[in-house]
Amino acid sequence: MDWRLLILVIVTLVSGYQLLLHAVQYRSANNPTPDNVKDIYDAETYARWKNYSAEKCRLQIIATLISWAVTMVLLLCNAHAAVAGLFPQNIYVQLIAVLVFQALVETLCGAATGYVDTMIIEQKYGFNRSTIKTFVMDQIRGFLIEALLSIVLMSILAALHQAMGDGMILLFAAVVFGITLLISFLYPIISRMGNKFTPLEEGELRDKLTALLTSHGYKVKAIEVMDASRRTTKSNAYFTGFGAMKTIVLYDNLIASMTADEICAIFAHELGHGLHKDVPKQQVMNLGNLLIMAVLAWLVVREPALHQAFGFAGVNYGFAFILLGSAALALVQPLTGMLMSAYSRFAEYRADRQAVKEGYGPALISGLKKLSRDNFSHLAPSKLLVVLEYSHPPLSQRIAAVEKAIKELM
Ligand SMILES: [Zn+2]
Repeated sequence: MDWRLLILVIVTLVSGYQLLLHAVQYRSANNPTPDNVKDIYDAETYARWKNYSAEKCRLQIIATLISWAVTMVLLLCNAHAAVAGLFPQNIYVQLIAVLVFQALVETLCGAATGYVDTMIIEQKYGFNRSTIKTFVMDQIRGFLIEALLSIVLMSILAALHQAMGDGMILLFAAVVFGITLLISFLYPIISRMGNKFTPLEEGELRDKLTALLTSHGYKVKAIEVMDASRRTTKSNAYFTGFGAMKTIVLYDNLIASMTADEICAIFAHELGHGLHKDVPKQQVMNLGNLLIMAVLAWLVVREPALHQAFGFAGVNYGFAFILLGSAALALVQPLTGMLMSAYSRFAEYRADRQAVKEGYGPALISGLKKLSRDNFSHLAPSKLLVVLEYSHPPLSQRIAAVEKAIKELM
């Protein structure tokens, strides 16, 4: 088996698939806007959105090409093995060398396209609030997180594989699942690192949000406003916390642009996710995903020839991560992603129904419209892309479903 050729072909196929999706996205900007969302953009804004969408697409196409070219050059030159060769032949030192090098390469590529995205395109259309300093700090933080996570992950894989050989798959999946749970547990703390949170002031909004959560037996630990406007003008809301104790986080942009009822409607939607246990369900699906990943990782680390084909003397657990990310996982992800986003769209409709049940149907429609306007969303995305990768249904379909639910439930 010519492993080298196989990997290079897979990397190219995966990039080709991504390019195809970007091209479909590019063309879909010309789709006619459905009637029920025609009022979102006026003619001038719509023209601006089209330019914005085209520039974003072009950048994505360039970013995909750069990432493909860099990956190919590094693989063709056996660059990872050359970097590893500079360090002592200890498996952990070797994996750290390769992963730090990889994280550095990815951060540099990501920073280049991220710079154009944030500081040029988003800036031009008035969404960006990041300063160069925030941007650089974000890149450094991204690099540290990526390097650290991949090193921890692959060190665990290396230790288990060394100790248990082939028997390690299930244990590896379990350990990784434990880590993802831990990260989702720590996420509220991690996301705090770059942002400021202030308690929401007393008033109608605070009372209504509290009433909404407590009417379903939740306890509100805190309602906080995040200073997202430091980075972007786009808006969002979410709630965190395990068990009955919840912390609500609202972007300050949301409060600036929406009425109390609209924010409550967005929240009633989030509550719908909570009541239907969508997050734990998604974690179960993640576990399935991780099992697939563990099997692939096992396939990659039990085949030294895969590593030797790229200049290593034997298995390098850092390089295994790259093989996984750019070939093995990349190959199955379109399929698992499609299944998971199909479920996610179903859960979105169900959460919208919850908002209608709470009496916030009409406010949800106007809130979603404002969110779409604030986020400069695509109003008529390609049906193919929706099926392949949209985690949320297109706005016009959501509104149609909410209107139907209002008639049924009210
Ligand atoms: Zn949702």
